[in-house]
Amino acid sequence: MKGIIIGGGIIGLSIARELRKNGYEVTVIEIYRVGRGASWSAGGMLAPQSEGLNPGTFLDFCLESRDMYETFVRSIQRETEIDVGYWKCGILCPAFSEEEEEELKERIKRYADMGLEGKWIDRDTLEGFYNSLGKDIRGGALFPEDAQVDNRLLMVALEKYARSRGIQLLEFTEASEIIEENGRFVAVQTKKGIVEGDFCVITAGAWSDHFIKSHVFPIKGEMAAIDITKRDIDRVIFGSRAYLIPRKDYKRLVIGATEEMVGFADGNTVKGLMHLFRGLEDTLPYLINRNVQETWFGYRPATPDLLPVLGKTEIENLYIATGHYRNGILLAPITAKVMFELIDKGVESHYLKEFSINRFNNG
Ligand SMILES: Cc1cc2nc3c(=O)[nH]c(=O)nc-3n(C[C@H](O)[C@H](O)[C@H](O)COP(=O)(O)OP(=O)(O)OC[C@H]3O[C@@H](n4cnc5c(N)ncnc54)[C@H](O)[C@@H]3O)c2cc1C
Repeated sequence: MKGIIIGGGIIGLSIARELRKNGYEVTVIEIYRVGRGASWSAGGMLAPQSEGLNPGTFLDFCLESRDMYETFVRSIQRETEIDVGYWKCGILCPAFSEEEEEELKERIKRYADMGLEGKWIDRDTLEGFYNSLGKDIRGGALFPEDAQVDNRLLMVALEKYARSRGIQLLEFTEASEIIEENGRFVAVQTKKGIVEGDFCVITAGAWSDHFIKSHVFPIKGEMAAIDITKRDIDRVIFGSRAYLIPRKDYKRLVIGATEEMVGFADGNTVKGLMHLFRGLEDTLPYLINRNVQETWFGYRPATPDLLPVLGKTEIENLYIATGHYRNGILLAPITAKVMFELIDKGVESHYLKEFSINRFNNG
């Protein structure tokens, strides 16, 4: 059986890996280089609790994926000999106002009822951890089970896995159209010719709407990175003004991220970068003297209800896995699992029912 994956981001490559491990022939069609879309731009936080997700199916989906992460990265590290910087560092959410403090304390309680860890740390205690703390910070909620991965290293590892295990990567190849016959998938038309397969998965991130009506649209995010040292910051700090992600080797602090519905509008703006650096200054002011390493931007694949689109489509043997919005790095392991079970065994988990593309057509 040969599967075709359109889009070589974390979702496409994770599904490709799962299929390949189980004996499928796999071809990935990627318009540029694999792994350089949103999956390269992301922060790599594995942060369902810090994101403040409400109890329900989506939170369950995220928590299950967070639980799978250590095993997921361990096996990729074994397969590729690349350390992908997974770090269960815990995430601190600072409160900049009374309302934020109330919300975070309430969130700690709500999650405790679900058996999830979290605790409030007051400002005096936080002052002992950092060189200086933004003047508005009143304290913060620590969620010790939230984690991070270096998403760029993970993409390099997934690419290495693909190349070393015989997954065909058709890079710099633009997929233009799905070819079907009698309601059944037969091939993908690319700008370089036709690629035939037994089934196809659309994993083209924010660009997925090009192929079928998936209701996915881009939400742009700008990011920056600066130099740090080990003494500067001990874990991810995720505030409403910015989030700060120290990489495990303490050589880089990733600062994120803006959110804008501006379509595909490439480039960093002065406004976007000012937002990030003000957020940094409001959180850990002593870091504004550091050198800037890089600035970049990316497009989150969002949907009208901000939930993913996963599963079958109206065309037989054409599947879709996209719309992961702010949590696609976190959701890669579970997405690969549920999509593989669907393709291989026809199993439709309750997650797939909830995240089906059909929800947009039913009313
Ligand atoms: C600034 C920012 C910060 C983020 N931070 C986090 C975070 O901390 N934690 C987290 O979990 N998530 C985060 N996300 C979200 C996460 O990055 C995405 O949800 C995830 O990367 C989506 O993966 P994907 O594989 O669907 O998309 P992508 O990585 O965008 O991959 C889609 C691929 O399809 C290719 N493609 C498009 N059109 C075609 C075509 N016609 N033919 C062939 N190929 C095509 C693209 O080139 C691309 O490589 C962030 C996103 C952004 C933008």
